[in-house]
Amino acid sequence: MIRDSHKQQGNRRKLVKLLEEKGIKDKHVLDAIGKVPRHLFLNSAFEEQAYEDRPFAIGAGQTISQPFTVATQSELLQVKKGMKVLEIGTGSGYQAAVLYAMGVKVFTVERIKELYDKTSKLLPKLGYRAKCFYGDGNLGVPTWAPYDRIIITAGAPIIPEGLLDQLKVGGIMVIPVTEGDVETMKTITKLEDGSTKTQDHGTFRFVPMLEDKLD
Ligand code: SAH
Repeated sequence: MIRDSHKQQGNRRKLVKLLEEKGIKDKHVLDAIGKVPRHLFLNSAFEEQAYEDRPFAIGAGQTISQPFTVATQSELLQVKKGMKVLEIGTGSGYQAAVLYAMGVKVFTVERIKELYDKTSKLLPKLGYRAKCFYGDGNLGVPTWAPYDRIIITAGAPIIPEGLLDQLKVGGIMVIPVTEGDVETMKTITKLEDGSTKTQDHGTFRFVPMLEDKLD
């Protein structure tokens, strides 16, 4: 049984309104955030605050991203129904659920086993049939490549070249790149001739992308 009270639904509507006020325009993104029960992706200790626009700890030193960050990345992806989207950094599964609710095929990779184990069970339980993988996202998921879109949800020290190889021509990668103390949100579009076009979209805060070996 999915617990989604009137109070939680009301709080969720308020969050959607707040995101609109903060500049999110894409109706598909706002609709998806209005549908996905964020309180079920958090430790129950934080349930009361689940619809505040802030990140929360999810264990293993990681966080569920702030809703404004999830909305911004989802908007920048410019997805269309049926597209294949690769996410690096499954974490709580909330971003994957939002994308799934937008009608795309989601492939998501998590580097920390504890989070992979938890989230790969939670997502199908809530009806989000995203394909979950345990591994190093820097390597992508070659088996299902190429992807229409790639989203990275941890601060990347560099743009992983191997991931760009898994992006279709005309595809878009949304990646927060660490520059000093903050992450600059970038979109990288892969052009016909194989070159890329990069654009900046403001600064955000992310946990760092992990590069060491699997545990
Ligand atoms: N999208 C998540 C955000 C989680 S925070 C959500 O909606 O909750 C970033 C996540 O990226 C963490 O779970 C972290 O363990 C994971 N991560 C960090 N480096 C990674 C890597 N190299 N490959 C895959 N996942 C990684």
